[in-house]
Amino acid sequence: AREIHLASRPQGWPTADNFAHVQVELPEPAEGEVLVRNLFMSVDPYMRGRMNDVKSYVAPFQLDRPMEGGAIGEVVASNSADLAVGDTVTHNYGWRDHAVAPAKHFRKVDPTAPPTLTAYLGVLGMPGLTAYAGLTEVAGFKEGDAVFVSGAAGAVGSVVGQIARALGASRVVGSAGSAAKVSRLLELGFDAAFDYHDGPVRDLLKAAAPEGIDVYFDNVGGDHLEAAIGRMRLHGRIAVCGMISVYNATEPVPAPRNLSLLIGKRITMRGFLVQDHARLMKEFVPRMAGWLRDGTVRYDETVVDGLDNAPEAFLGLLRGENTGKMVVRI
Ligand code: NDP
Repeated sequence: AREIHLASRPQGWPTADNFAHVQVELPEPAEGEVLVRNLFMSVDPYMRGRMNDVKSYVAPFQLDRPMEGGAIGEVVASNSADLAVGDTVTHNYGWRDHAVAPAKHFRKVDPTAPPTLTAYLGVLGMPGLTAYAGLTEVAGFKEGDAVFVSGAAGAVGSVVGQIARALGASRVVGSAGSAAKVSRLLELGFDAAFDYHDGPVRDLLKAAAPEGIDVYFDNVGGDHLEAAIGRMRLHGRIAVCGMISVYNATEPVPAPRNLSLLIGKRITMRGFLVQDHARLMKEFVPRMAGWLRDGTVRYDETVVDGLDNAPEAFLGLLRGENTGKMVVRI
């Protein structure tokens, strides 16, 4: 079997040299274990954090060990009564073409339910739940709110905007990194969108949300966060989901210079992790399945072919080469 290992830890931007392509012999599945052939794996921004050797909410990847992450595959040998050959399963043994592990580490899913199998890694999986939980629980979205989301053409951001629309937002504004992404956001029903390369985010956001915003869903941090604080209405809420603009920084980055506005505007700013909202999955999955069925929510995917290209897919994600969810076909 083939695996991608962490070969070295990046300083700043990662490169292909940080990854090793390794051939391994897999054991036969022991009692209670299964052998799974992976079909697709996910690359996600949080993996950048796991490449660092620092204490965090999730343990660092280990050097010279396979990397991990969301994946979907097919059971090809089973030594467990819980899973049968042919079952489709989601799990966390990505970055490899095959995995042997206890059956309880895999979750059986219906491969025919969603429009694409990869939806389990995106709109119906972790990124979709992140969007849903962040908007509804963390930001306390209510009908009539004006919403701004950054990273809006990505896996999480595109879903945030469309859910906000479906739940009755008065205005949905998104930012993204190219003109093509901006056009796509307008097609998806955003009221306004801008390319953050086109000028100071503060000015672009002011033009896109002249009457201000009630909710900011932050995927980016930096100047986006400062601009959003500036545009917030009274009692505005900021869900701090991610800050991808700082993940490769080698120096501490400055805080928003206008933080004192939080006081007068009574702004709530709250960080969150999707895993703390896992119990919402029961409510989220059927709701999202319905939105997908009736066309309320649409989703894009950027599919990179071949396990060997997984590092390049990950680096491409950090550079913004994806529209919607970035996945690797194995
Ligand atoms: P995306 O699909 O949004 O991919 C990342 C995108 O980030 C790129 O496509 C790129 O798009 C954008 N980007 C990269 N660098 C910058 C930059 N300097 N400034 C602005 N945008 C940039 O990834 P996800 O949807 O999976 O994740 C989105 C965010 O949500 C990330 O910050 C991630 O860490 C966070 N997250 C947090 C979770 C939680 O539990 N808190 C769970 C899941 C995700 P562009 O072309 O627009 O620049």
